[in-house]
Amino acid sequence: MSETENKFEVLCESVLKTVNEGAFSHGTLLECEDEEQSLRLARLIANALVCTGKNKPCGECAACRKAMGNNHPDICETDGRTKKSDAFTVDSVREIRGNAFIVPNEANVKVYILKNGQNMNEQAQNAILKILEEPPSYVYFIILTSQKSKMLETVLSRVSVYSLAVSNQNITDEEKECVRELTAAILSPNELKLMEHTSKYIKNNRLAGKILELFSTVCRDALVQKSGFSGDFLFPQEVSALCGSLTAKSLMRLVEVCNDLGLSVKRNINNNLLTVRMCYELKRAIGR
Ligand SMILES: [Zn+2]
Repeated sequence: MSETENKFEVLCESVLKTVNEGAFSHGTLLECEDEEQSLRLARLIANALVCTGKNKPCGECAACRKAMGNNHPDICETDGRTKKSDAFTVDSVREIRGNAFIVPNEANVKVYILKNGQNMNEQAQNAILKILEEPPSYVYFIILTSQKSKMLETVLSRVSVYSLAVSNQNITDEEKECVRELTAAILSPNELKLMEHTSKYIKNNRLAGKILELFSTVCRDALVQKSGFSGDFLFPQEVSALCGSLTAKSLMRLVEVCNDLGLSVKRNINNNLLTVRMCYELKRAIGR
C-alpha cells in the first residue's frame, strides 16, 4: 500500500468514527489532489450519515443500499457547472442553498457533496459561507477541493478540514530544525523548553505558519503509524517519537490546534499574543 493509500484508510476510519459518535461537522472540506479518492471518501461519509443501522455504514439497511447505488434522494452531488460556465457558479450555490431549506425526503439528514470547490470564485464562496454559518440542523456539506489555498479563510474557519495533500517541497534546513526542536520541546518534561522554542516565532510570522503546517503533518503521520501502518514519512524520527509517547487523542488534538493556530497566523494576529497562545494551546492538547 502506498503512503497516500495508508493515509486514506486511516482518514476513512477516523472520519467514520466521528460520524458514528454523532460528532460529524455540518461543514467539511476534503483536500485531495486525487478527485476520485476524495469523492470515494465523501460518498462513504454521506452513506454513513443516511444509514439507519448501528455500525454506520452498515451496508445492509435500505438507505445504505440506495446510497451505494448512488440513488439516495437525500444525497446530492454537484460540481456546480452550468450550460454557460465550467466554474462552480454563484447561481449554482444559490440554488443549492434554496434546496437545502427543504426538509429531507427519506433520511433524517441531507448531504451535499460539492465537487471542485477550487472552481468556486469569491462570490460563490461567500454565498456558500452564508449557509455554512447557520445551516439547517439536518444539512451536511462536504466540499471537495484539490487546493485548500483556493478557499477563502472565512470559509476555512467554518469547516473541519481533512487533508490528503502531501507537502514535501521547499522545506529549508531552518524549518527542518524547527520541527525537530518543537517535537523535542513538546515531549520534554521541562515546560520551559516549549516556551523557549515558541519565542523563536515572535518576530517571524511566516516561519510560525510554516512550522505549524509541517508539525500538523508530522502529528497526522504519527496517527498513521499508531494505526499500524508504515510510510515514507518526511520526519520519520519525530513521527516515531510522537507515536510512542502520545495517545491518539492527544495527536488528534495537536492536529486541530496546529490548524487553528495556522489560521490565526494568516489573520496576522498580534505576534506576541500568538506565541503565548501557541505555547498554551500545544501544552493543553497533550494534557499538561
Ligand atoms: Zn445502513
